[in-house]
Amino acid sequence: MLIGLHDADRTRFPNYALMKISAWHKARDDTVEWWNPIKTYDRVYSSKVFSYTPVCDDLPPDAIKGGTGYGEYGELPAEVDACFPDYSIYPDVRYAIGFLTRGCIRRCPWCIVPRKEGIIRPYRTWREIKRSDSRDIVLMDNNILACPHGVDQLQSMIGEDVRIDINQGLDARLITPEIAAMLGRLKWIRFVRLSCDTDDMLPVIQDKARLLNAHGIKNWRLFVYVLVRDIPSAERRCIALRGAGMVPFAQPYRDFTADAVPTPEQAAFARWVNRKAIFMSVPRFSDYKSNRPMRG
Ligand code: SF4
Repeated sequence: MLIGLHDADRTRFPNYALMKISAWHKARDDTVEWWNPIKTYDRVYSSKVFSYTPVCDDLPPDAIKGGTGYGEYGELPAEVDACFPDYSIYPDVRYAIGFLTRGCIRRCPWCIVPRKEGIIRPYRTWREIKRSDSRDIVLMDNNILACPHGVDQLQSMIGEDVRIDINQGLDARLITPEIAAMLGRLKWIRFVRLSCDTDDMLPVIQDKARLLNAHGIKNWRLFVYVLVRDIPSAERRCIALRGAGMVPFAQPYRDFTADAVPTPEQAAFARWVNRKAIFMSVPRFSDYKSNRPMRG
């Protein structure tokens, strides 16, 4: 069979589902390639992670579509999910990606994870995820510290030749002195990521940062996701994090409908915060706005 793969989002980040689908088909001696609109395929798979990614109108009507961007929250068939991802379709990606756990213990109203993945549970070991040709693993776990298996896996990486990035962020509320000590002994690709989605989380982050500092993780290594709904609240959090020497990253809120886009104000706020040279030199959002008219 000739299989066409379509990565609708085309970010720099590899598509986990498509890599597994590719591996599953190649194990059956099928030919797998990126979908080409002028060719005919026996089967086409399209994956779309983000709701704001435009839908491709040229896909064949029988293309198999998956991913939250299509409003599909199901999982891959077990036999496909069991495959080791085919990294050869993303030759520029030098790290492994995967999950040690799935799900979350919380039900934050803005988040799709509880609906999509359900209650937290063990999923894989880090040795099952790691590539033989790389020591770097990007873990996409949503709340790894909430699962004893996730904590055990992190613990078992200490002293191993492996570096990690937990790219969805750690739940700071779960960082105890023991957890902070463990995190301090791990090798990180660069940042330790946290989330500060509400005003209530700011003192928690500040408190847990002191714990992490005591174990060698300094504030400049703390990359903090900041959910942007109410601008004054988000600005308070970003300015406080900047003042503490952390790295805030503004994420405008989107609901999970296909036409959901941030407001112009939220988009401008994210540009102010996320362009670090600007954020470090322009003290307030109002200063940024007065020098740069809002785009639609
Ligand atoms: S803790 Fe994170 S992953 Fe869990 S529901 Fe809240 S935002 Fe989602």
